[in-house]
Amino acid sequence: MNIDLRNGLKVGGHVYSVKSGGVVNERLKEGEYYARCYYSEREILVDNSRTRSVVNNSVIHEILHAIDNNFDTKLRESQIKRIANGLHQVTEQFGINFKV
Ligand SMILES: [Zn+2]
Repeated sequence: MNIDLRNGLKVGGHVYSVKSGGVVNERLKEGEYYARCYYSEREILVDNSRTRSVVNNSVIHEILHAIDNNFDTKLRESQIKRIANGLHQVTEQFGINFKV
């Protein structure tokens, strides 16, 4: 199942745009990131040249950052990483892919 995020997604009622490809991929690679979440811009950037599983995991990871920021849960990076890995494992078994 493909979940198309190219028109963005809502987190806590806020619309986040999801951008990837070309310059976005280059910018992320320069910083050695797979993806980033910018709260004030309400923007999630994803390097879509990575493998499918890396893209899927990165999308979940950045959505968790957006949720964490919006709901002020104050999760640490290591907690975000572990929850993202767990959710990724669950979504993989259902063949869920994020289109970015
Ligand atoms: Zn992170």
